[in-house]
Amino acid sequence: MLYDILIAGGGVAGLTAAMYAQRAGLTALVVEQLFPGGQTAITYEIENYPGLGMMTGPELAMAFEQHARKFGAKIVNAEINAVALAEHTKSFQTSAGDFLGQAVILATGSRPRLLEINGEHKLTGHGVSYCATCDGAFYKDKAVAVIGGGNTAVEDALFLARTCKTVYLIHRRDQFRADRSLIDRLAGFSNIHLMLDCIPESIQGEKRVTGLAIRNEKTAVQQEIELNGVFVAIGAIPNNSLFSDCLATENGYIVTDKHMATSLPGIFAAGDIRNTPLRQIITAASDGAVAAYSASGYIAGIRA
Ligand code: NAP
Repeated sequence: MLYDILIAGGGVAGLTAAMYAQRAGLTALVVEQLFPGGQTAITYEIENYPGLGMMTGPELAMAFEQHARKFGAKIVNAEINAVALAEHTKSFQTSAGDFLGQAVILATGSRPRLLEINGEHKLTGHGVSYCATCDGAFYKDKAVAVIGGGNTAVEDALFLARTCKTVYLIHRRDQFRADRSLIDRLAGFSNIHLMLDCIPESIQGEKRVTGLAIRNEKTAVQQEIELNGVFVAIGAIPNNSLFSDCLATENGYIVTDKHMATSLPGIFAAGDIRNTPLRQIITAASDGAVAAYSASGYIAGIRA
């Protein structure tokens, strides 16, 4: 079968694109290797999606998936092994077979950046985690560290502070990058200890995490903190390995114009994978809608 639009990635951008494509009378196939919803599905609470108030991440992710399916979008759980984007008919080679499409929307998002310090690799899954909402429950009444100064790190610290005995929020500068509204909420938790200007140097432990060595950048004082878990929240790296050699990128992110068009005809990108000043659920959804609209124009021969 020749689909109108093949969509790589079933996060918010991909699911929104699928829903918009189907509503426009096109056929859309989403290929997702993990679970629908992407990063949203592993976010504890969402409070900044307009009109929703407060909702859990898994609830919102499920709502996006159901909405896309309601309009007939197909979602395949498979890994994409190779793509052919330059041909007139585009294709994905996946673990569930090959799929053909007239246009493609790339919405593969990003993955957590690693600290790349001693102990991190060995103890991943044994006290080192990149997802507080996934693994936080294992650390009830225990001491943990969250590394980072962005929205994810501050949200993770706030989330973990509800159940953990102590949360060390360790940031390499003395100013957070996170939104003011989140930073202000830190003061409400006496068990969150801010450790600013601090660089993690190594994670200790043989079979499980037992401690974290840090160095204060301003005083050069080194210190070891005894703890049970380290949550790394230092940003993300775009999942672009399948297409970075054939598309224009900037710092690894796919360059698009305002139509979400990439440097190849018929190939569009949406969400965290593209170079954009803001990476949020609302911007991913918006990108997905624009990408589907532009792809439909491309298929109809109206736009490049
Ligand atoms: P981010 O905004 O890129 O922040 C990464 C943080 O990690 C920065 O504070 C950075 O320090 C620090 N960092 C980077 N490399 C490091 C290293 N090697 N060692 C120690 N620290 C390091 O990433 P994010 O917090 O994951 O957020 C990603 C995007 O998602 C952002 O656009 C964010 O606004 C969005 N987001 C939004 C929400 C929300 O609105 N509710 C929630 C989560 C994420 P510096 O500050 O010194 O660079």
